[in-house]
Order: sequence, then structure tokens, then C-alpha cells
Amino acid sequence: MVYYKTNDEIGLIRKSCLLVSATLAEVANFLKPGVTTLQVDTMAEQYIRDNGGVPSFKNYKGFPFTCCISVNDAIVHGFPNDTPIKEGDIVSVDVGVFMNGYHGDSAYTFAVGTISDKAKQLLRVTKESLYKGVEKAIAGNRVGDIAYAVQEHTEKKYGYGVVRELVGHGLGKELHEEPQVPNFGKRGTGLKMKEGLVIAIEPMINMGKKDVYYDKDGWTVRTKDGKPAAHYEHTVCVQKNKPDILSSFTDIEANEKANPALDASYF
Ligand code: MG
Ligand code: MG
Repeated sequence: MVYYKTNDEIGLIRKSCLLVSATLAEVANFLKPGVTTLQVDTMAEQYIRDNGGVPSFKNYKGFPFTCCISVNDAIVHGFPNDTPIKEGDIVSVDVGVFMNGYHGDSAYTFAVGTISDKAKQLLRVTKESLYKGVEKAIAGNRVGDIAYAVQEHTEKKYGYGVVRELVGHGLGKELHEEPQVPNFGKRGTGLKMKEGLVIAIEPMINMGKKDVYYDKDGWTVRTKDGKPAAHYEHTVCVQKNKPDILSSFTDIEANEKANPALDASYF
């Protein structure tokens, strides 16, 4: 069942999304070598609750944390832990907020300290592919148009691996609603989108091959070849002429540039 949202609902989803974005902007201030991902998670949970939200992911199907924090070869769904972040790490942080009955969902990948030019390209191209997908979130287009745009930019153009096991999704009252929004596929296929469809578009892109495996924790998804991966996500509302991006990277990017421990030179 695909739920199209009313303007009031879209407004509420936007509020949840903007708290997600504000939380990720806090993370952009907080990240530096020596900080553990568990400390990041604790800070993010406190920030969300102080601002009237509830972490969407905590206890979702048993997930025990506020954030998914996935470092280097971890692609998504990483468990925050006691390992200090170190210079050269690529840290993907995925956050969801539930507020006023609606979820918001967004993710961002950070470069801690100096990373290789190859890794910088991976981050830049993955972020670019997100916006290439977002551009297609217009009424009358099909979900496959988004999928194709992401895959074309990452796999065809740069030879990166597009994760097949995990996909974007509709969201609203539930964190995961129909339709699924893959990052791979054919143009002109899948659901024909109408105004009011709210979807999370989230390219998960591997520097190497597309193959993945699950960690012993049952959640963390890692690249089989051990190479790094990147993950950027926006919640987007389909509209007539132009997609409405409900989450925002503006403050995240400003804080990323202002934080001397992060490398923002990739974009
Ligand atoms: Mg997410
Ligand atoms: Mg998502």
C-alpha cells in the first residue's frame, strides 16, 4: 500500500527531517579522532530527545541504538561501539526521528582527518548520485528513473559497486513504507510517482565490488572486499515540477567545513 501524504502530513514529516538534519549537524561538530561512535550515539540521542523527538531506529526490529554508524568497510546499519574514531576514517551516520506521529530519515558520510583522493572521489560521487536520484522524484516519473540515475552515475560512470541487498523506501507514519526505492534498475519501470509520495533516497555505494556480508552482530553490513563505502540519504517529497527535499545538508556541510578534524575538500 502506497500512502500519499497531505500537505499537513508533509509539514510534519519535514519537521522530523529537520531535527534529523540538525542532529547530523551536531555530529559534524562533534566528530574528531579519539571520539568513540558510542559517544556520538549518546550525544545524538540526547539532542533528539531534548528537541522533542524520539529516535526512530532505537528498538526498531531490535536495533539497540539511536544512530547507525558505519566506519570504512561498514556500509550501513553499523553498531556504535567503544572503538575511537581515527584519522583517515570514513564515518557514515544514519539518523531517524519520530515526532508528531511521523518519521524523518537522513544520512551523511564524513571524512575524519585526511582521506585518500580515491576515497574523496567516492564520497563526492555518492553525494552527487543522491542528487541525481532526487532530481527524478517528480510526479509522472517512475521509481526506476531514480534507480537508473543513481546506478548510471556510480556504477556505469565510475565502476563503483551499488549495493543490491538494501534500498531506499517510502516513509511517514512508518519508518519503512512502500515503495522500495532501489539504487539500481531500469528507466521507465516501477511505480509511477504522484504528488505527495514521500521517499527516502539513499545511495549505498562501494568503492570496490557490490558484494556485501552481515557482521556477527546480525546488523552491520560490510563490503566483502573490505574496501570503503559511502551513504548519503535525503527524505524527499514528490511534487509536480520539482522535488521537495524535506531533510537538509546545509548546516551539516557548514559545520563539516568549520570542523578542523573533518576533511570537507571532497565536494
Ligand atoms: Mg536512514
Ligand atoms: Mg532510510
